Amino acid sequence: MPEIKKILVANRGEIALRIMRTAREMGIQTVAIFSEADRNALHVRYADEAYCVGPAPSSESYLKADVIIEVCRQLNVDAIHPGYGFLSENANFSRMVREAGFIFIGPSPESIEVMGSKLAAKAAVANYNIPMVPGTPSAITDRAEAKAISAKIGYPILIKASAGGGGKGMRVVEAEHDFDEQMDRAVSEAQSAFGDGSVFIEKYVTSPRHVEIQVLGDQHGNIIHLFERECSIQRRHQKVVEEAPSAILTPEIRDAMGRAAVDVARACGYYGAGTVEFIVDDQLNFYFLEMNTRLQVEHPVTELITGVDLVKQMIYIAEGKPLAIEQDDLQIKGHAVEIRVYAEDPANNFLPDVGTLDTYVRPQGNGVRVDDGFEQGMSIPIYYDPMIAKLITYGDSREEAIQKMIRAIDEYQISGVQTTLGFCRFVMEHEAFRSGQFDTGFVANYFTPDSLTAKSDQTESDLAAVLAAWLLQNQKPTTNVAPVQLTQTRSKWKENRLK
Ligand code: ADP
Repeated sequence: MPEIKKILVANRGEIALRIMRTAREMGIQTVAIFSEADRNALHVRYADEAYCVGPAPSSESYLKADVIIEVCRQLNVDAIHPGYGFLSENANFSRMVREAGFIFIGPSPESIEVMGSKLAAKAAVANYNIPMVPGTPSAITDRAEAKAISAKIGYPILIKASAGGGGKGMRVVEAEHDFDEQMDRAVSEAQSAFGDGSVFIEKYVTSPRHVEIQVLGDQHGNIIHLFERECSIQRRHQKVVEEAPSAILTPEIRDAMGRAAVDVARACGYYGAGTVEFIVDDQLNFYFLEMNTRLQVEHPVTELITGVDLVKQMIYIAEGKPLAIEQDDLQIKGHAVEIRVYAEDPANNFLPDVGTLDTYVRPQGNGVRVDDGFEQGMSIPIYYDPMIAKLITYGDSREEAIQKMIRAIDEYQISGVQTTLGFCRFVMEHEAFRSGQFDTGFVANYFTPDSLTAKSDQTESDLAAVLAAWLLQNQKPTTNVAPVQLTQTRSKWKENRLK
């Protein structure tokens, strides 16, 4: 069995660090790659060795498969972990890695290929009894026929890109008179984003919830699932809050979804860590959406409720070891919530707001995990995804995990850019989220650009009160303290006065 002694992480930021941390715990040497924009990045400083692979744009650096493989040759690397995004779901890359004699820490190129196309994935699982959303079984070639099918399914319907990802090439059609316009947009979006304009139709599930199952498979045909993650709080069809377990699944449905996910993985001869995504309707019927053949952004919540280090398992699997965990060994313990801290402005349609982190102080304490790749004073490059960090909290119960999240958000101090922190706090406090009665329409249903403004007015007066208090006590004003932090300080200050 090959032993991995040196890993190259073909990624950047928080996920590169997260992978290298586990590698280091396992006594594995780490190699970072970086673009010219990331010369001072934390993942570069953390690695045992680092190699610049090109200029800032990812097409000239993090996506340069041949350059990355050449670095492996020069530095005597055994294996490549692709993380998520970039080359992680590129079957050609995983094939090239193998042909060059290195281990790809992930599934086979064949599995990536099948699951990389939503239509091929549906076809692959057709022999198993996996529930699927009604729709067209193949790409649309004839519009009249597609309209007839849509009428039969019943509006609203969803037009989706077969090669889709990141919510691109996806269009909801409310009624037949919108069909042509939305179809044109979906095709052109799919063509420009994926170089493949094929689209298909699915019934638009109303009040949908996004629930996904984590699976692990080894190279000997053993496949297990590690329960679900609920990722229904989304903006632009993209996740921003995730939790495990889901607040609404019954043990029976959890079990049925877990078995369906293992079947999906089996259908494509899957090994490695993967995620089978389902959409769940308001009657708790679930339907297979797609499979992601990589480590997901939101994997930490699963790690916290199961105690399994997914990266460590991926490495063992890549070495050819049989899974040491059996399905019956696994149990859900406690509850975990993750929020994605993006440099985005929630009040401005969640548009990216990159810049310099003038203040950056992470929350700490029991049950708080921060996966990030920044330090105070660093700039968020415009070239990549504007995620600053993932903030994850863990508690015995959902309520406790949420309370910890609110506490941690209040401790998080970021200035210099707008972030999703305030929005995520809004979610944590919202009755719909608290009661578990929410769906992917949360933002559209409850959030308006001024949902956070009322709070800001409040924090402004808090700010004045605290500064006055601070001046009285210390005769020197504090700087760079985030407003939420100040709200807390004020309540402490009031208490002091009452004593
Ligand atoms: P992508 O690969 O682009 O992320 P997915 O198929 O994973 O696309 O879907 C992303 C999100 O879009 C889902 O989490 C859900 O919110 C929404 N969605 C997808 N399919 C449907 C559907 N048939 N009905 C309602 N919402 C859907």
